[in-house]
Amino acid sequence: MIIVMKPTATDENITAVKDFIEDLGLDTHISKGKSVTIIGIIGDKKKVPDTTRLFPGVDKLVHLTESYKLANRKFKTEPTLISVGDVKFGIDSFVVAAGPCQIESVEQMSEIADVVEENGGDVLRCGVFTKEAAASLDEIKKQTSLKLIAEVKRESLVAEAAKHVDILLVGPSNMENYGILKECAKTKKPIILCRGISATIDELLTSAEYILSNGNEKVILCERGIRTYETSTRYTLDISAVPVIKAKSHLPVVVDPSHAAFVMEYIKPLSKAAVAAGADGLIIEIHPTPGNSATDNSQALNFADFTDVMQAIKPIILLEERNI
Ligand code: MN
Repeated sequence: MIIVMKPTATDENITAVKDFIEDLGLDTHISKGKSVTIIGIIGDKKKVPDTTRLFPGVDKLVHLTESYKLANRKFKTEPTLISVGDVKFGIDSFVVAAGPCQIESVEQMSEIADVVEENGGDVLRCGVFTKEAAASLDEIKKQTSLKLIAEVKRESLVAEAAKHVDILLVGPSNMENYGILKECAKTKKPIILCRGISATIDELLTSAEYILSNGNEKVILCERGIRTYETSTRYTLDISAVPVIKAKSHLPVVVDPSHAAFVMEYIKPLSKAAVAAGADGLIIEIHPTPGNSATDNSQALNFADFTDVMQAIKPIILLEERNI
């Protein structure tokens, strides 16, 4: 449940309602928007009497039908900005993360990092985190100013991964792995949470809620394709997920066209579509010689094609009044 205050509500009005709710043994979450303040109620909403609407400054009491609260746009009306040093996800920023499916060598990562940076990218994709990769990640970090992102596939490795990279990625098959989500929450690192291939947007937001409610507010959602009856692409990139998530949630959204389409030729048009649809960033797989990539070699872009994609999206990013 949320309590929507009137635009004319004073700080005293807000505090009075907040104190009243907390005296009932419930927690509150205050979201001050440009025009109105919303008091979110966490706990058993049945304890809140209908007469709460009679408090000075209260506009209305709204019962949320969704299973997520902290991730809900009704709970927090302003979009959330997530900072990773000087890299910002959300509002008027646009972030490009690129890199190979897996780390093949530190030298190769350094070469890729230079290309990402020269093209205006901010984040280096470093594949799946393993104990063996830790030393390489530390070495790569010394050689680039880009932020590092790695996927976490095991609950037991999440805390360790957080020591070596700036952003953790939870893949689609682990979207509902609550053990991993809980560990991710504990790290307090920004988390990119990928939508499962069979998950609805509400199910994705329910998983995000689990991380938020465990004390980590830095959740970035990622659309990377869902299973449909179409077989020309590996999955169907659900572009509509971008505006739908923006309507339902205040959290930033990025798009991974590489793992959705799985066809090199479609990455550029899908990237352009993602920017135009209002995405806050892209995750693109690139490799110096995609044909020789150890994994996912059908969709990784070579450096020239990556540069071409970056050139194609920059005018759209500007049109969207975002900074890259
Ligand atoms: Mn891959």
